[in-house]
Amino acid sequence: MTKRQQVYESAEITVTFDPEVCSHSGECVRGLPAVFDISRKRWVRPEAASAAEVTAQVARCPSGALQARPKDK
Ligand code: SF4
Repeated sequence: MTKRQQVYESAEITVTFDPEVCSHSGECVRGLPAVFDISRKRWVRPEAASAAEVTAQVARCPSGALQARPKDK
């Protein structure tokens, strides 16, 4: 984990983003714009879709900058 890594949480899932790794492909914002929207200060809102949808979109991140894991119960 780098010190610049960002963490975004919903009740169900934690999404992390490493801006040093992002290749700016835009895959996330095109695929799930309700969750990934760079016009917002808090640009990742994992609560805006189901955990399954967020997990599937994160898996399409080509650089690995986005990671997701279920919250501990
Ligand atoms: S999909 Fe991954 S690499 Fe592409 S813009 Fe989003 S975070 Fe960056």
